[in-house]
Amino acid sequence: MPWTRVGEAATARMPEQEAGTGSGRAAAREAPALLQVVDLTTHFHVPDGVVRAAEGVDLEVRSGEVVAVVGESGSGKSVTALSAMRLIAEPPGKIVRGKVLFEGEDLLTKTRTEMQAIRGQRISMIFQNPYAALNPLISIGDQLRETLNRHRDVTRRQARVIIEESLARLGISEPGRVLKSRPYQASGGMNQRVMLALALLGEPELLIADEPTTMLDAMTQMDIFQLMLKIQRETNMSIWLITHDFGVVALMADRVVVMYAGKPVEAADRKTILHDPKHPYTSGLIGSVPAMGSRVKRLSQIPGEPPDLRALPRGCSFAPRCPRAMEVCRAEAPPSLRLADGAAVKCWLYADGAGSG
Ligand code: SF4
Repeated sequence: MPWTRVGEAATARMPEQEAGTGSGRAAAREAPALLQVVDLTTHFHVPDGVVRAAEGVDLEVRSGEVVAVVGESGSGKSVTALSAMRLIAEPPGKIVRGKVLFEGEDLLTKTRTEMQAIRGQRISMIFQNPYAALNPLISIGDQLRETLNRHRDVTRRQARVIIEESLARLGISEPGRVLKSRPYQASGGMNQRVMLALALLGEPELLIADEPTTMLDAMTQMDIFQLMLKIQRETNMSIWLITHDFGVVALMADRVVVMYAGKPVEAADRKTILHDPKHPYTSGLIGSVPAMGSRVKRLSQIPGEPPDLRALPRGCSFAPRCPRAMEVCRAEAPPSLRLADGAAVKCWLYADGAGSG
């Protein structure tokens, strides 16, 4: 759904803020869209109903930009990414409508073979559990070689040089030893670095990282994120980062999209989101920021539970938990509004003529 610009009355409550941390970040803000998700809607048909896991999601990742998609479990952030990559199991899942434009081409119209060529080569994904993604019985070296050979036509000697360089870039000081080991012989942090190396071998334009460090200790998490940022800046790769952790957002993101009950409810640059959140759900999430490295799965400071996606409440899905809910919120879905500072928000508080709650 397109965002509607609101008038002066709402604007006055939200001072414009500067965003970004340097010229590279500023350049990312000006860059053309690499990926545009438009009205993406994915449902799961289960025996007792239809789970509306992603509903009308709009999202954009520009070249060289880190976009963090934030929300509690079940907010639709992973389903949106999996749908964009055509990795939803059908059935029970179904992409009901929408577009996923990657450099202008709709991924939802690609054949299976075309998608296989895009995945890993132009868009890579890493997940939170490297043990599930790596084959425990095959040496790390063989897994890296197999992936490299899928993407590039290189000799065995060239492959070894490329792989060792890629491990060194990821801070692995003894690549020879690591290449001989199997995943179960390596630490979680080492395996996540290997996952990152696998994801980067195809030199993708976009990396989708779904809670990539949740299973790691705080120090290792920090190392992995610093590495991701370093590589992102060296290569101008874009990152679509999925997280529940605003500490990670503060470290990594250029722009932030907050999702609730399968929909984006707020989108803005990092500084604006962190210092001037608009949506009451975003304020609640920021108010309950867990320290980086925390294993907290659900941010319990927001009262109540996320809604049942099979039976969403009428009006605003957040209304049962919202401290500022008004009568209109329970009757009608909030409009999608574009504010003067560039933030986009779905909330009645910012509609012209709405009360302040
Ligand atoms: Fe709260 Fe109403 Fe805004 Fe929903 S629309 S977040 S209930 S104020």
